[in-house]
Amino acid sequence: MLLSTQSLPTDRAPLVMETPRLSDHRRKKILVTGGAGFVGSHLVDKLMMEGHEVTVVDNLFTGQKKNVAHWFHHPNFNLVVHDVTEPIHLEVDEIYHLACPASPPHYQFNPVKTIKTSTMGTLNMLGLAKRVKAKILLTSTSEIYGDPQVHPQSEDYWGNVNPIGPRSCYDEGKRVAETMMYSYKNQNNVPIRIARIFNTFGPRMHPNDGRVVSNFIIQALQGKPLTVYGEGEQTRSFQYVSDLVDGLHALMNHDYDGPVNLGNPDEFTMKEFAEYIKKLTKSDSIIQFLDKTQDDPSKRRPDISLAKRVLGWSPKVPVEEGLTKTIEYFQSVLDEAGEIIPT
Ligand code: NAD
Ligand code: UDP
Ligand code: UDP
Repeated sequence: MLLSTQSLPTDRAPLVMETPRLSDHRRKKILVTGGAGFVGSHLVDKLMMEGHEVTVVDNLFTGQKKNVAHWFHHPNFNLVVHDVTEPIHLEVDEIYHLACPASPPHYQFNPVKTIKTSTMGTLNMLGLAKRVKAKILLTSTSEIYGDPQVHPQSEDYWGNVNPIGPRSCYDEGKRVAETMMYSYKNQNNVPIRIARIFNTFGPRMHPNDGRVVSNFIIQALQGKPLTVYGEGEQTRSFQYVSDLVDGLHALMNHDYDGPVNLGNPDEFTMKEFAEYIKKLTKSDSIIQFLDKTQDDPSKRRPDISLAKRVLGWSPKVPVEEGLTKTIEYFQSVLDEAGEIIPT
C-alpha cells in the first residue's frame, strides 16, 4: 500500500522546523553551493532561520546529506545534487559560492578536479549571476597568501604562492576564482563579494577531513598519538564556525566589494595547539612528530581591521569555548561510530 505524507499518523510525520514567514518582497531566493559541507550547512541554517528560500547545489564529494537533513521536509528548502563544473540554470537573488574541497588531503586527492571546481565551477556561477542579475559571494581563502612573507596578513598583500606545488590546485584555483569575480564585476557589472577565510572549525567538520582541529581532537579522545607535522613551530589562527557564518552574512549584505579577511587572530604554534587540545580533552595521548608536508605555510594570522571597520564584524566566540563545543560534537560522533582513524 502506498502512503502519502498526509496519510502517515502524526507521530510519524516528518518533523518540519518552524521558520519565520517573510513577506514576498523580503523573502529572497538564495543559492548555496557546497551547502551540504561543514561551513555551508551552518550558513544554510542561518538563512533558513531568517525565512528565506534556500537551494543547495552540492555534488556530495566532501559534504554529507545528513548535514542538511533537518531541512528536507521544509517547503523553503531544496537540495540539488549537481557538480558545479557543469552549467546549471536556476532563478535566484543571491549566490553564496562555497563548493570546493577545503582540507589538504581532500583537495589533493584529485588536483585536476579541484582546479576544475574553482575555475569552471566559479565561471558557471558567475554566468548564472550575470544572467539572473544575482549578487554572488565567493569563499576564497587565506591560502591565497601562500607561505606569507608579511605577518599578519592584510588584504593588500599579494601573497607568496608556489604555482606548481601540491597545494597549488587549491591556492591558484582560488586566486583565479578571485580574478574571475573581478572580471565579471568590471566587464559585466555583476555585484560581487569576496571573503578570504582563515582556518575555521566546529561541529560537522568531516571526521576524516585531515585538518588539524579534527585530527587532534579525534586522536586525543581516543588516547592515540597527536600527529604534529614537522617540528610544530608553524602557526595557525582558529575561528569558530558561527563567527564565520555571521561574517559571510554581513559581507553579502554590505555594499563593500573588495576582498575581506574573515578569521580569528588568536594564533598558536601547532605544538602549542596539540598541548592545548590534550588539556581540554584531559587526554594522556603522546605528541608524535611526523615529516613536514611540502609548502606548508610557516605562519598565518589574519589582520581583520578591514572587516571590523567596514562590516563592524569581529569574532565573538573565544577559541576555548568553540573547541569545547567541537570536542563534545566529536565525542558524540565517536560514541556512534566506535572508532575513527583520522586521515
Ligand atoms: P567542505 O569540504 O566541508 O565543503 C565543501 C562542499 O563543497 C562539500 O559539501 C562538497 O561536497 C562540495 N563540493 C566540492 N566540490 C564540488 C563540486 N565540484 N560541485 C558541487 N559541490 C562540490 O569544506 P568547508 O570547510 O565547508 O569549506 C567551504 C568553503 O570555504 C570552501 O570554498 C573553502 O575553500 C572555503 N574555506 C574554508 C576554510 C575552513 O577553514 N573551513 C578556510 C578557507 C576557505
Ligand atoms: N551558465 C550557467 N547558468 C546560467 C548561465 C550561464 O551555468 O544560468 C554558464 C554557461 O554555461 C557558461 C558560464 O556560465 O559556461 C559563463 O557564462 P557567460 O554567459 O558569462 O559566458 P558564455 O556562455 O557567453 O561563454
Ligand atoms: N597539521 C598537523 N597535524 C595534523 C594535521 C595538520 O600538524 O594531523 C598541521 C599542518 O601541517 C598545518 C596546520 O596543522 O601546518 C594546519 O593544517 P590544516 O590541514 O588544518 O589547515 P591548513 O594547512 O590548510 O591551514
